[in-house]
Amino acid sequence: MKRKHISAIIILIGALIVTFYSGRMFLSMYQEEPIVTGPGVSSVVKLSTYFPGLEGSYGDTDVYIMKGREPGGSTLVLGGTHPNEPAAYIASVVLIENVVVKKGTLYVIPRSNRSAFTHNDPQEGAPQRFYIETPFGERWFRFGSRATNPVHQWPDPDVYIHAASGQQLSGSETRNLNRGYPGRADGTFTEQVCYAIRNMINTEGIDLSIDLHEASPEYPVINAIVAHERAMPIAADVAITMQSNEVNIGLEPSPVNLRGLTHRELGDSTETFAVLMESANASQGRLRGRTDEALVLSGVDPMYEKAADLGRLFVPYDENGHPLEVRVARHLFGIESFIISMSSYDGNKAMIVSEIPSYQNMVSRGVGAYLLPVE
Ligand SMILES: [Zn+2]
Repeated sequence: MKRKHISAIIILIGALIVTFYSGRMFLSMYQEEPIVTGPGVSSVVKLSTYFPGLEGSYGDTDVYIMKGREPGGSTLVLGGTHPNEPAAYIASVVLIENVVVKKGTLYVIPRSNRSAFTHNDPQEGAPQRFYIETPFGERWFRFGSRATNPVHQWPDPDVYIHAASGQQLSGSETRNLNRGYPGRADGTFTEQVCYAIRNMINTEGIDLSIDLHEASPEYPVINAIVAHERAMPIAADVAITMQSNEVNIGLEPSPVNLRGLTHRELGDSTETFAVLMESANASQGRLRGRTDEALVLSGVDPMYEKAADLGRLFVPYDENGHPLEVRVARHLFGIESFIISMSSYDGNKAMIVSEIPSYQNMVSRGVGAYLLPVE
């Protein structure tokens, strides 16, 4: 055999090995980690129940329902609107695995944009998974992308025109779930998911909708609640409760001219009290240094410490970072406070919910203490 044939074969084998491993890596992103149905979960339905057009697509996702014995108000928690914001996703998983509802109904969608869990943002160096130690061993979770996977919705237009308002945004925002509300049955993949969530709120008459997020420490809306004007009285009460317990949180009114977001469109197109909460996540920030699983979990980043020294951040930042358990604790404290506040604001919407880990316990014991064993 000639020498060039031998080198051709070697190169071919090398290419096949690279293809095999990268192919396996891409396919592994479609693997979903187990979420254990906790003692309070009464049923799990598909989002396509509320819009059959989603059936069989990657937009269809699990809705966990926790129904109390006593009728009462209802709350929807959206996790995983942006799967590169891990505290939002993990807080929703902790609710599913722990919470018991005595009065009213709690709905939780942990993977609101399920498609966005199946890839990572290109050129960001983000980890694909992160691991949490529990008393029963390690649990793994996906770190995904801010937007719908282009495999499910492509191509992007140059300019994304929000259908209901004509608002213009950069083309890639067409795959951002939190710019697609109120959604359209005959719209894009992402708009159809928005449409299904809106239909669910209308069909079930859900009283309160809380969309969980995280943001970069240099982003002005952070450690904050954003509330639709009808939700403002209870959101103000929640902000006071959190502040008086030394959990610093800001309160912003939902801008009337910023369209497509949950706190605007769900409040306008349904009867729900629509709010959104943000915590500080260095692993999605633009100023971050090394991006790895440790950054996701600890939020410790020397680059952000430096940025804080220069006065560039909107949250305090020191060598302790913003650990996942603190970010999850903030979200859970907010959710519990919203439910209590709504219950006293309007007796017809009262709910009684127990077993939400307290802020102090979540911070001191860590997320792993509140995750169940996987069978
Ligand atoms: Zn977000």
